[in-house]
Amino acid sequence: MKPNLRNFDLEEIRNFLKDLGEPPYRGDQVYHWITCKAAISFDEMSNLPKILREKLDKAFSLSLPELVELQRDEEGTTKFALKLEDGEIIESVLIPERDHFTLCVSTQVGCALGCTFCLTAKSGFKRNLKVYEIISQVVLAKRYLKEKGEELPLRNIVFMGMGEPLANYKNLVKALKILEDKRGFNFSRKRLTVSTAGLVEKMYELAKDFPTALALSLHAPNDELRKKLMPIAKKYPLKVLIKALKDFPRVKNGRHTIEYILIKNINDSLIHAKELANLFKKMPVKINLIPFNPHPELPYERPEEERILAFQKYLLSQGILTTIRKSKGLKISAACGQLRRRVLNHFSIPNSCDLKATIRAGTIS
Ligand code: SF4
Repeated sequence: MKPNLRNFDLEEIRNFLKDLGEPPYRGDQVYHWITCKAAISFDEMSNLPKILREKLDKAFSLSLPELVELQRDEEGTTKFALKLEDGEIIESVLIPERDHFTLCVSTQVGCALGCTFCLTAKSGFKRNLKVYEIISQVVLAKRYLKEKGEELPLRNIVFMGMGEPLANYKNLVKALKILEDKRGFNFSRKRLTVSTAGLVEKMYELAKDFPTALALSLHAPNDELRKKLMPIAKKYPLKVLIKALKDFPRVKNGRHTIEYILIKNINDSLIHAKELANLFKKMPVKINLIPFNPHPELPYERPEEERILAFQKYLLSQGILTTIRKSKGLKISAACGQLRRRVLNHFSIPNSCDLKATIRAGTIS
């Protein structure tokens, strides 16, 4: 199989072109086409000689995952189910904001971490995404916006789709570097947010290799409850996790984000809010409350509106910036894993029988 050119950074592409006897600027031209212009074929590269386009086409692939299903709600939130070359299905979600779009991308097929409130977890872990499979989600979203004639730019990328990003560390960091490169995609580093359930060693590595905006999926304010909801908490107690968060550089003095799924009668009482406030009182964080998105196959419920507001009110009263995530895309299976499950049940996909039997439900990383 030909290597996919989206796996490579500019220096690597320049070297490939050099090996083909071309001057370095040809590498820059090709890179511009596959990043800024989101090209999907060498034929589109109109400022390259035809003979070079043919040579590139013989040596490299530019293929993208196949869009097998798209759901769009009335607010414009759009969810893509994408089929990879080996038949696996991943999801990405495009979310309209006031003056830009945010894209939520996946980093793995399935996930090994087994959070009890998550549909993706029920499918188990299949494999890590390759660099080009991560980048391709951005290319597809850019092309989609262009085809729709959308004027607002795609400005934010959040690594909060399927999978634990830090468990696919090497490919994640390379994809982040390609997305930030000013000569190509040119995303601002503070607009590239990596979410993690708390792989502490990898948080320290990321702090050295690519300190960027970080979102910690906490979901419980004490070890006992966190262990019940997130098996990874057995390995990393809150004390160790919060130290790693404190040690993680803040991009341009921004705040780290704490993601907290509010689940009815599990972690949504005022006692939990107090415990949470005590953890973060003196830290520059933003707590993002995410009311649980119910699913028939998950044993949890969404708290009533008053309870959600009371939880937020308490945190605000303690001087902690706290937002409630609007449930964008509730009507379009937007919670992580739901569209994938629907698609797997609908299409005949090789090796998916075991998945069909085991995928249950999912929310968000
Ligand atoms: S919530 Fe995130 S980390 Fe936990 S199982 Fe689901 S995808 Fe994995």
